[in-house]
Amino acid sequence: MRGAQRYRAAGNQNDDPRPEGHAGGFQKKEGFRRGIAAPQIGILKRIIYIHFPTAGISGALINPRIEKRSKAKFKLWDDCFSFPGLLVKVERAREVTISYTNEKGENCVIAAEDDLSELLQHEIDHLDGILAVERAIDGKSFAWRSERDQHGKD
Ligand SMILES: [Zn+2]
Repeated sequence: MRGAQRYRAAGNQNDDPRPEGHAGGFQKKEGFRRGIAAPQIGILKRIIYIHFPTAGISGALINPRIEKRSKAKFKLWDDCFSFPGLLVKVERAREVTISYTNEKGENCVIAAEDDLSELLQHEIDHLDGILAVERAIDGKSFAWRSERDQHGKD
C-alpha cells in the first residue's frame, strides 16, 4: 500500500473538462458533476466514480473504505444525482482517510478534506444504501435548489 497522499480542493471544480471513457460519457449525458456510485446506475458493485481534477482524481475507486474520520465536522448543503433539484443540509467529517483499489488494481490510500472529504463520504454512503436525505440535520434541512438560488444562501 502506498503512503497516504493529501488532497485539497482548489478553485471551481465545475469548469473542469469532462473525462473521456465510459463513465465520463455517462457523466456528460446524465449531467452528474463530481461523483456517482455504481448502485445509482443499477450496477450492484462497491465502486464509485469520482471526477475531482483539482485533487488529481478522475476515475473509479473500487471497494473504497473509510479508514479514519476526523472528529472535526462541518455542515453543508448537499445535492445528489438521485434526487435532482433538492438540497439537503448534512454534517460530515472534515477529513477522512480512504483506502481503495484503483482501475489498475493498485491499493491506494488518500487523505481528503473539505469538498473531497464530503464527496467521498456521500458516494461511499450510496454503497451502503444510505442517501443524503437520511442524513438531514433536522426538519429545516431541505430546500429546492430553485428556491435557494432565488433567495440567496443561508
Ligand atoms: Zn448521491
